[in-house]
Amino acid sequence: MSTSSAGPPPLRRMIVPALFVGALFLVVFLRQPNGPERPDQWVLTGGTMGTALTVKVVVPPEFKTSQDVVEAAIRDAVDTVDFSMSTYRDDSELSRFNRHGTTGFEVSESLIEVVSEAQRVAELSAGAFDITVGPLVDAWGFGPDPVIEPPDHDTIEVLMANNGFHMIEIDASQRTLRKDRAALRCDLSAIAKGYAVDRVADALSLLGLADFMVEIGGEVRATGRNAAGEVWRIGIERPEAGRGGLWSTVVLVDTSMATSGDYRNYYERDGVRVSHTIDPRTGHPIAHRLASVSVIHPSCMTADALATALSVLGPEDGRELVEREGLAAFFLIRTDDGEFDEWVSDDWPSENTVDVTYVEHDEDE
Ligand code: FAD
Repeated sequence: MSTSSAGPPPLRRMIVPALFVGALFLVVFLRQPNGPERPDQWVLTGGTMGTALTVKVVVPPEFKTSQDVVEAAIRDAVDTVDFSMSTYRDDSELSRFNRHGTTGFEVSESLIEVVSEAQRVAELSAGAFDITVGPLVDAWGFGPDPVIEPPDHDTIEVLMANNGFHMIEIDASQRTLRKDRAALRCDLSAIAKGYAVDRVADALSLLGLADFMVEIGGEVRATGRNAAGEVWRIGIERPEAGRGGLWSTVVLVDTSMATSGDYRNYYERDGVRVSHTIDPRTGHPIAHRLASVSVIHPSCMTADALATALSVLGPEDGRELVEREGLAAFFLIRTDDGEFDEWVSDDWPSENTVDVTYVEHDEDE
């Protein structure tokens, strides 16, 4: 969508950290000087799905596959997800399904898998997680096109009438998706990045690699150990734009962690923060004190979806879901004085001791 040059400028979103917006998948491998007793560690950085990709791979001396092959496997894994599940590409499977009418639409097994998991988390969270929130996400200015004004009450009512995860039907045997209303559109932004992390991890395992860390836009999988033979330590950010730093670090051993929050992607309107996470039950962006939710789960896809579900539910209802389902979750909750209280669930693995030392560093670092 383009905007008239005579009209007001579109709402400006704050996106922290700066995202790699665009389709280019740029890959750079760096060889780490680890010393003779340590295996090499390759670091791959680039952009995918409008965000940053980092893969660290520990390469044992006996591993003879070339960097090019590893790079191609990673590229293939993320591109497959992007081409299938992006709402930023008109030609993706998902965009074509979104434009399709109400008859069955044949899709890939991957799309069936992700939509099925999305529907499971939607049921679990009583609709707090809902991929049919797409038109509302777009209307609030967090989709592919900029918007001039946030939606008014009537627009929200109309969009909500066309919403609801119950309006999607999955036929796994026929590999088809069907929607009750032609206007219904799905948005997999809260689950597909995690799925892409899982696919990259599978690709690396298939190549015979056992020690690696994969991160796409804050969703992480860590397997085995780093080049120094130590467990991977992953940071949880302090949930505050413009004040870089880690709140804590978490040990991840053969599992995944996803974080959702209201501090990375938002804009301000009349002094009020407008978050990209929408409560499908009200049609409005979330407005509560839960600033950041991290979830640990073996599946990064599931961790990703659960983190958004808990972000929508907020501190009290979120805690209730975590305890009911025995989830491993970590909350940072805003206090009146602008600081944060933390809450750690019983099922947050005990070896993942949260280091509460706040490490502040310059944004330029
Ligand atoms: P998360 O908390 O993981 O997800 C929040 C997002 O989920 C929201 O932005 C919204 O889209 C959606 N959402 C909001 N409320 C709900 C809800 N209640 N239930 C379910 N979902 C909800 N961005 C670009 O700028 N350019 C691109 O080319 C681009 N391509 C992408 C391709 C793919 C396949 C995917 C998955 C995303 C792409 N994005 C792109 C989106 C970008 O990466 C998003 O900013 C990101 O996915 C949001 O992730 P997050 O970790 O910030 O937030």
